[in-house]
Amino acid sequence: MSHVFCTLHDQALKLSRQYLACEKALLEILVQIEAKKIYLQQGYASLTEYSQKALGLSRDVSWNLVTIVHKTKAVPELKHAVQMGVLPLSKARQIAPHLTKENSQKFIALAQAMPREKLQEALAKECPKIPSVEERARVINATQTELSLCLPKDVMEKLRRAQDRVSESQKKWVGLAETLEQVIEFYLQHKDPKEKAKRHEVRKNKAALKAIQPRRTVRESDAAARNSEFNLMPINKPIAKIQAKGRVPIPAGIKHEVTIKNAHQCTYRDSRTQLRCMKERFLHIHHKLPVAMGGTNALENLTLLCSAHHRLEHYRGGG
Ligand SMILES: [Zn+2]
Ligand SMILES: [Zn+2]
Repeated sequence: MSHVFCTLHDQALKLSRQYLACEKALLEILVQIEAKKIYLQQGYASLTEYSQKALGLSRDVSWNLVTIVHKTKAVPELKHAVQMGVLPLSKARQIAPHLTKENSQKFIALAQAMPREKLQEALAKECPKIPSVEERARVINATQTELSLCLPKDVMEKLRRAQDRVSESQKKWVGLAETLEQVIEFYLQHKDPKEKAKRHEVRKNKAALKAIQPRRTVRESDAAARNSEFNLMPINKPIAKIQAKGRVPIPAGIKHEVTIKNAHQCTYRDSRTQLRCMKERFLHIHHKLPVAMGGTNALENLTLLCSAHHRLEHYRGGG
């Protein structure tokens, strides 16, 4: 029986050594792929996308590797420590965001000496801006996520004040989670382009309705006319001007229309899966036919792309 255990243990040891060696070799290759931007040739917008979709790595493993690859440019010592086997990948990932040329020796030594939890505390002591708790979102079940984060004192005080206001308006005690929900809802109502676009549509429809309704009073019909003119103006008038001139800034009205038309989401589709990119952040307006080739700021020639897919489109020569 003990012979079987020993054999299994030996096999596990052998395989884990191979596994760690593979991890290091993969890191080295990814550094080269990033340097030569080989993922673009393969049709992927970033190293992260490439490592997940082309290599099939999990989100966590890919994040660990890519974070280290990106930091390696500025701090090559990080990669060397992983290659020498003195620093596991997970700890290298933990210190990577905070590493600079100046502190690299000290932080790598700390990471070698301490377990992960202690390391986070030590990092926070060394750099007061680093929170002592790592930001983390852990899915608990189908409807709930546990969120750990560190708030500065004044932000916490503001959150408590918001909690008081929400509790007052609901005439009952309201917890922090519900307060956050209300605060986020309020913010999105005012700042989220998708919500703005919805309100814009409602206003436009109302204005169109008013314009076709029979005249009731002089004041009402004036207001309707003003509204419908306002809504049409940014769409139609500037296009005529722009088409004649070539490269001119895209007017705010057109930008707004591009956003609404594409639901404020990157329009890139993966050629392999046909799935649309989910990014709703850092979106750029892209000319389908480049301005240099006669492309205009007309709505039909504009689309929305996230920064990574915008770079990919230009790499492929699309504008
Ligand atoms: Zn572009
Ligand atoms: Zn995208």
